[in-house]
Amino acid sequence: MVKDTKLYDILGVSPDATDAQLKKAYRLGALKHHPDKNPSPEAAEKFKEISAAYEILSDPEKRDLYDQYGEEGLSGGGAGGMNGADIFSQFFGGFGGFGQRGPTGPQRGKDIRHTISCTLEELYKGKTTKLALNKTVLCSSCKGKGGKDVKKCSSCDGTGMKFVTRQMGPMIQRFQTTCDVCQGEGDIISPKDRCQTCKGKKVSNERKILEVHIDPGMQAGQRVVFSGEGDQLPDIIPGDVIFVIDEKKHDTFRRQGHDLFYDAKIDLLTALAGGAFAIKHLSGEYLKVDIIPGEVISPGSVKVIEEKGMPIPRHGGYGNLFVNFEVIFPPKGFATEEQLEALAKILPPRPALNIPKNAVVDDSCVLTDVDPIKHGQRRNRSYDDDNDEDEDGQPGVQCAQQ
Ligand SMILES: [Zn+2]
Ligand SMILES: [Zn+2]
Repeated sequence: MVKDTKLYDILGVSPDATDAQLKKAYRLGALKHHPDKNPSPEAAEKFKEISAAYEILSDPEKRDLYDQYGEEGLSGGGAGGMNGADIFSQFFGGFGGFGQRGPTGPQRGKDIRHTISCTLEELYKGKTTKLALNKTVLCSSCKGKGGKDVKKCSSCDGTGMKFVTRQMGPMIQRFQTTCDVCQGEGDIISPKDRCQTCKGKKVSNERKILEVHIDPGMQAGQRVVFSGEGDQLPDIIPGDVIFVIDEKKHDTFRRQGHDLFYDAKIDLLTALAGGAFAIKHLSGEYLKVDIIPGEVISPGSVKVIEEKGMPIPRHGGYGNLFVNFEVIFPPKGFATEEQLEALAKILPPRPALNIPKNAVVDDSCVLTDVDPIKHGQRRNRSYDDDNDEDEDGQPGVQCAQQ
């Protein structure tokens, strides 16, 4: 569910568009309205709009913010860092190359995804975690070239791929195959010139520590993105490292968006005559909550403590804390007869019995405690040896059959 679809509308895609669909929509729109192709002022305006929309939606963090909060969610986040021309050149390799190179830039590497499991306390307070990442980097000795005196393979013109044509009966077939001269590398290094460090492989492995900042109030599914921290490979733009937040189940609180839900047990006296109860909060503090004498908390009632929910990122403030009450009644025989009579004078009077005047009345009913063995109502005692699963009876009330 997104708050606002304006940016998606500009690109002509639905809010659940994949990255690839966004990319495609941007390419089509940007090519059509590019000032080099279409000199009208309307086209220039449209080109700017499309570029700005794409800049936001192609960034997972900004897209998340926009989906959640609309354009105002981006106002503090420094949206619009790049202008249309910058994004365009990222895509198509610069204005000069427009129409010459065609829309094929360098390939982008794969994104690396990790899940970060957080407790509700951690998501309340926010935290910074250091995570070690093993990644492939370009060899630092040869700068990813593989050695000295690297020659472009002339057989495949450095592409690593070759087109082979073959006559098949009346047809000539043309197909692509890995270059046999350079084994698909695209370049040739003689053994003596090969980089000693990477043995000509151009890459090595590195352990990198990333500091992941989890802001207070972040939610499951939100992402922390390290742009371009993916594996480095020759002639490839590294992908991103993306951390996805996962929320662990909590013992006492349930969360819904920015709000928290808590089940409180209070005694009957406090429920009727007031008092206080305590909640150990995610902040580490204890909340002392007063119940006003005579307020009367009924079992199952829900009250709210404002501003004691989760922090709301960027907007500031907090969600609410909803309290669901269970009232613990006193044990059997807690009071003497005189005390109960005194109670009857305080509590609202007993309501009249709901029995019509001329009804036939059976007043021999006895209320007893439920005995699981005696009262386990088995439908077919002689054949059913299972433990009593089918308890379809009303516990507690037994009437003598007349
Ligand atoms: Zn090297
Ligand atoms: Zn080759």
